[in-house]
Amino acid sequence: MALIVQKYGGTSVGSPERIKAVADRVIRWVNRGNDVVVVVSAMSGETNRMVSLINDIDPEGSAREKDMILSTGEQVTIGLLSMALQSKGQDARSYTGGQVKILTDAVHTKARIRRIDDTPIRNDLNKGRVVVVAGFQGMDEYGDITTLGRGGSDTTAVALAVALKADECQIYTDVDGVYTTDPRMVADARHIPVLGLEEMLEMASQGSKVLQIRAVEFAYKYDMPIRVLSSFDDDEKPKSTLVTHEDGVMEDVLVRGIAFNRDEAQLTIAGVPDQPGIAYQILGPVADANIEVDMILQNVGRDGLTDFTFTVHRNDLEAASKLLEGVASKLEASQCKWDDKIAKVAIVGAGMRSHAGVASKMFKVLADEGINIRLVSTSEIKVAVVVDEKYVELAVRVLHDAFGLSETMA
Ligand code: ADP
Ligand code: ASP
Ligand code: MG
Repeated sequence: MALIVQKYGGTSVGSPERIKAVADRVIRWVNRGNDVVVVVSAMSGETNRMVSLINDIDPEGSAREKDMILSTGEQVTIGLLSMALQSKGQDARSYTGGQVKILTDAVHTKARIRRIDDTPIRNDLNKGRVVVVAGFQGMDEYGDITTLGRGGSDTTAVALAVALKADECQIYTDVDGVYTTDPRMVADARHIPVLGLEEMLEMASQGSKVLQIRAVEFAYKYDMPIRVLSSFDDDEKPKSTLVTHEDGVMEDVLVRGIAFNRDEAQLTIAGVPDQPGIAYQILGPVADANIEVDMILQNVGRDGLTDFTFTVHRNDLEAASKLLEGVASKLEASQCKWDDKIAKVAIVGAGMRSHAGVASKMFKVLADEGINIRLVSTSEIKVAVVVDEKYVELAVRVLHDAFGLSETMA
């Protein structure tokens, strides 16, 4: 008998019919002799609807209140799925994140899971129940509801799978696995049957939203295999992607996939003193405001002055730009500017470690299309560039072709 944690995303529970289909699928897994814990997202579109309601009242408003609102979408789906299971004769119980308990830090709208008390889940499983848990939410030490950042139900699922020592964590979504790039952007993207966690971590951090990055981080740290599969497929012989530690991955491929991200914004502060401590003076206040910085570039100094550029999530641009203006006046910077019409495109592959020339090939491919590169960042297994947003689709397509990733090139 296996213990399986399944997560169903927004489109998978997007209507009463879809919820009933999920209930049927869960029951089939139970009937095959498994204990099943199900994590669900809000019905598709619901979280966006709440975000726009929040923005209509006060986009700068209290993050605690935002979480109070954002967490409600998942509370609806856990109740609906439990009712669907019960109506089909399957005992089931729903729990909010706070009830489980999923304890998080108090950083509202992007909280991190600290601890999970799985006692109520285990008790229910022992009684033959399916346990349905609200994704994306937890509770902080003050008893306040928190949320885990957009796409956070993936993280709830993996964290629960780790806490319960589940045999597998299955992420059901609207695609039948991870592809060489977003199949909605490139129609002949290739399906990847087995993928290393390290490569998935890099793909997710570069913008492949098929799995939330924190979910992959959990899986990586605690060695929990994740299987990505479609809730729209027949489940007798489903196509899927198993994301697991490197050992299971046989092929030695140079570039595994292309990720892209339109969610970032670039900020530059120019003409600041080129002296020790300058990076800290600029980025310290940004970090203190819990704003994550992605790329950082400090130019070579000239005449004792230098320029400093970094990128943040677009949602954080307003707050980051205010902080930067404060720093700019303190440091008497010559200029302070920002731009959110940018996109990041990255090639990812563990095979890059042992091959030179991958970055230069990428730069040539982009140059041949007249695409200007604004920023570059590299790690052992990725090369990421920032380009004008209008070029993102072209950049992804030409790179996908140039590195031989298309289905037709397989
Ligand atoms: P869910 O609501 O189920 O969590 P998401 O929209 O968060 O679903 O994630 C699934 C989507 O991720 C797909 O519909 C696809 O457009 C997108 N995606 C981005 N990159 C990839 C990739 N490399 N492989 C597969 N899907 C990807
Ligand atoms: N409902 C949340 C969102 O839309 C969490 C999730 O779906 O994973 O971001
Ligand atoms: Mg998602």
